[in-house]
Amino acid sequence: MNEAQRHLQGKVAVVTGASSGIGEAIAHELSAAGCSLVLTARRAERLNALCAQLPGPAVPLSAAIDEPATAQALLELAHRTYGCADILVNNAGMLVSGTLETIDLDGLMQMTRTNYDAVVRTSYVFARAFKQQGAGAIINVSSVGAYLSHSSMGVYAGLKQAVEVFSTALRVELKGSGVRVGTIAPGTTETEIFDRLRASGQPVRADQTPALQSSDVASAVRYMLEQPKHVSMARVLMVSSSESV
Ligand code: NDP
Repeated sequence: MNEAQRHLQGKVAVVTGASSGIGEAIAHELSAAGCSLVLTARRAERLNALCAQLPGPAVPLSAAIDEPATAQALLELAHRTYGCADILVNNAGMLVSGTLETIDLDGLMQMTRTNYDAVVRTSYVFARAFKQQGAGAIINVSSVGAYLSHSSMGVYAGLKQAVEVFSTALRVELKGSGVRVGTIAPGTTETEIFDRLRASGQPVRADQTPALQSSDVASAVRYMLEQPKHVSMARVLMVSSSESV
């Protein structure tokens, strides 16, 4: 084990959206790196099965991330179970897209609460605790979509851009405190996030071009977290080498 890998050994990481896709892969990656985990999403069965599979300690919290109480409950569960929290990965998210005439407005508002409001609340709750302890890391999962203008995906793109801007401001506010904040903006990644689009007959980028795998994104997240304390991986943009963005 080299110096960078030792950095994550014994750390306590909270991962949101861990029941599938990128979040599930991050849970595998961080558990293999020696982290103790708190994993959250709504689907309890998936979380329980994942916790049982992982090589290291992991506890589930089945909850909606857009419920205001969930952020504090995650912090408390980490402290109750492991005595501390060191890392937060804000990964839970959804994708609602469509044309002016067809887009689901209630779905859009749910996406706003999940992809932005919950990221802000969870980041603040953990950043306050991390600042008090003088150490911690927050990774917020953004998207390559933040840098694109697709007419059918404007709200998703806007929310991911807001995550980027918010995270940068938080990183700067916390400079010198021992708390690091970064974002990762993955390109198209083959996950269940596209199921809703497929069900409504909308075109799916992952079906047209070879996509990233969740494990690619997870290993980049691990790399960001393995950096020595004086390095802040502020923003990572990663796309499939076949993607035209
Ligand atoms: P998945 O649909 O596979 O995973 C989404 C995760 O978020 C699930 O674990 C889901 O759990 C959880 N989630 C969604 N809504 C809520 C909610 N209200 N409360 C709690 N948990 C919730 O998609 P991905 O793995 O692709 O997405 C992960 C992140 O990556 C998202 O932020 C997405 O925007 C981002 N991303 C994805 C890309 C892609 O091409 N796939 C590209 C760029 C970014 P459950 O349903 O059990 O609650």
